[in-house]
Amino acid sequence: MKVHGYGALEAGAKMVPVQFEREALRAGEVAIKISHCGVCHSDLHQVNDDWDNSLYPCVPGHEIVGKVTAVGEGVEKYSEGDVVGVGCMVNSCQQCANCKAGEEQYCTGPKGCTLTYNGPAVPDGTNSYGGYSDGIIVREEFVVRVPDALKPEEAAPILCAGITTYQPMKHWNVKMGDRVGIAGIGGLGHLAIETAKALGAHVVALTTSPEKKEMILEDLGADEVIVMSDEKALEEAAMSLDFLLSTIPYKHDINSYIPLMKKNTTICIVGNLIGFDNVDTSGMVFNRIQLAGSLIGGVEDTQEILDFYAEHGIKPDITLIAPDQINEAFERMKNENVRFRHVIDMSLLKADDGDEKIEQPVRGEVVGRDA
Ligand SMILES: [Zn+2]
Ligand SMILES: [Zn+2]
Repeated sequence: MKVHGYGALEAGAKMVPVQFEREALRAGEVAIKISHCGVCHSDLHQVNDDWDNSLYPCVPGHEIVGKVTAVGEGVEKYSEGDVVGVGCMVNSCQQCANCKAGEEQYCTGPKGCTLTYNGPAVPDGTNSYGGYSDGIIVREEFVVRVPDALKPEEAAPILCAGITTYQPMKHWNVKMGDRVGIAGIGGLGHLAIETAKALGAHVVALTTSPEKKEMILEDLGADEVIVMSDEKALEEAAMSLDFLLSTIPYKHDINSYIPLMKKNTTICIVGNLIGFDNVDTSGMVFNRIQLAGSLIGGVEDTQEILDFYAEHGIKPDITLIAPDQINEAFERMKNENVRFRHVIDMSLLKADDGDEKIEQPVRGEVVGRDA
């Protein structure tokens, strides 16, 4: 499958138009013409090699929505014309306990899960290219169905931002009446607020930006906002939260959040490799507070949250961009702490034979099938 898209040829380079071949469709796989792809903070981190593990060329994108154009032998769930999505993973061993439990992101097979882009970096160094492109081929088990009630561009951010914030709320059993704190009101945080509200929680948004207060209450529907510089408000909110989700994507001070937690509750971090200096462990010890992490979510839960959004009429706040606006979008994300999600309209891609030719990515085998 000949594919055009956008990629970075080296660390921190501007995104440029690229073309490459994807391996032909095999049994158990689904070919998708990509219509939309969300722009995630991880895309920017990976392009800039912020995690020190990027492979180049790098074609990011793991909030992929499109139409099925063909299915391989044995595919049962999907057929041509279906609107489907692909999130952060495209393969895993399917045989370890975590895969069997629907938590492919924690796959303990020999290669772990294969991320939609930049994976598997270990052990053989082969690369994968993501959704900043007009087509992808993915094994059936990693494809989800986009409900009719969601527009394709609205479904895209749910595939990473939505599932990443929903999964910990499910795991730590956020329920009706719980007081849930959401720290960091950006691309992930705004979806986290809406999800927690739909689960029936009382949502307390925690922000460092006083100017966002009104927007958070009026547009996002949080029940309360605490500005982290407001010491009086912090004091009044002491020991009031049942769960706290931090979506802040950079190194920050966790200590001002710890006193807000009720006894025996959890602060969950979903940002990758952000780190903390001098965590106030006594604040944790005296109230048995747990500091936890969580990585994206499995395929089954991804389908669940798509259906949940459709059912509850939750619509991610998006800004559509053309593929050639991706560099500007990255700049905005870096400088402005945007709360909405940029979504690339891939139908506007101007494919050109002069696009930079890059090597074909190699997909892993389709494990657990007779193909
Ligand atoms: Zn992401
Ligand atoms: Zn596995």
